[in-house]
Amino acid sequence: MKMGAAAGQLLLFSGKGIMTTQILPADAPEAAAVAARWIRAGELVAIPTETVYGLGANALDPAAVDKIFTAKGRPSDNPLILHLTGAGQIADYCRDVPEIAYVLAEKFWPGPLTMVLCASDTVPKRTTGGLSTVAVRCPESAVTREIIRLAGVPIAAPSANLSGKPSTTTAAHVYHDHAGKIPLIIDGGPCRVGVESTIVDLTECPPRLLRPGGITPAQLREVLGELVIDRAVTAQLAPGEVAKAPGMKYRHYAPAEPVIIVSGSREAAARYIRAHFAPGDRVLCFEEELPLYAGCAPLAYGKEADAATLSHGLFAALRELDSAQIPHVYARCPVGEGIAYAVQNRLKKAAGFCIVDAEAAL
Ligand code: AMP
Ligand code: MG
Repeated sequence: MKMGAAAGQLLLFSGKGIMTTQILPADAPEAAAVAARWIRAGELVAIPTETVYGLGANALDPAAVDKIFTAKGRPSDNPLILHLTGAGQIADYCRDVPEIAYVLAEKFWPGPLTMVLCASDTVPKRTTGGLSTVAVRCPESAVTREIIRLAGVPIAAPSANLSGKPSTTTAAHVYHDHAGKIPLIIDGGPCRVGVESTIVDLTECPPRLLRPGGITPAQLREVLGELVIDRAVTAQLAPGEVAKAPGMKYRHYAPAEPVIIVSGSREAAARYIRAHFAPGDRVLCFEEELPLYAGCAPLAYGKEADAATLSHGLFAALRELDSAQIPHVYARCPVGEGIAYAVQNRLKKAAGFCIVDAEAAL
């Protein structure tokens, strides 16, 4: 298919696999219209959101959705999130919607909260990974909501990284993973939150947290009262164990080399890491800890005292450390609730739940 004329300077020859990937700043006057045109033409567009960059397609077009799975190398049973312009669209794609969904949307949308609801027949099974439920959210990014509005269809979008790899939190990350494979990236700058949305399943009573994110369990409990934390949030699932969010069963967010989380006090962790550090290894730590790792090639991903900086910086740091040349990464993980809880979840998954207690090991 050729779309050079319709989209101005864009060229797309998907039949031959030759594609120019354009990066348009989110504040370019034509950004939303150009992106919406590609979406309507059944192509992929990388969209900025407050969580991570998404790889978007027309959620109602199974052929377009297929391209997401192909571009990412994503298992076909891992469903996508429908991005909407607001709560007014929920009833178009979901049925038997409980009142509490609207209460949550009123409080947290636009924002980093995804709700799992019963899917209506308007949503293709390709989009839901074959499930009878569908995940929906409304992103904070004004340009992305404008793209959805102009496209006239919900946009299905997972994180734009290659499957299993650390998520994309800048346009440059998306370009690195998909240059030549997609026609357009909308550059909205670095993502504010930096980890994927909180996912809450409202088809169960009490509701269940499937993935922690920018909206914290405490914020959800204020509205919901009771909230069950799914086991996949805190532990590695056993082989064959069924995941409520199919994405949670796959290896995720991981650089090429093994990541080892070293828990315990600052001093105990530094002693353990310095004792085990070998040439080529790297240390992923908090800014406050940098002086403890002189000579150990430390990389800080944020401040321990300000967990929002950790969520903001985590994936960029994991991507920087994604190299088969690095034997091990020793990582420091924040403790606590709030956004730190989401950082723990992503880092533990990146480490395949390999955690050493430095206090016990010394
Ligand atoms: P990503 O944002 O790339 O991690 O992909 C979307 C996430 O949403 C994956 O972890 C999916 O498993 C999860 N998800 C999407 N739809 C559903 C659903 N209907 N039920 C449970 N989880 C879902
Ligand atoms: Mg993802």
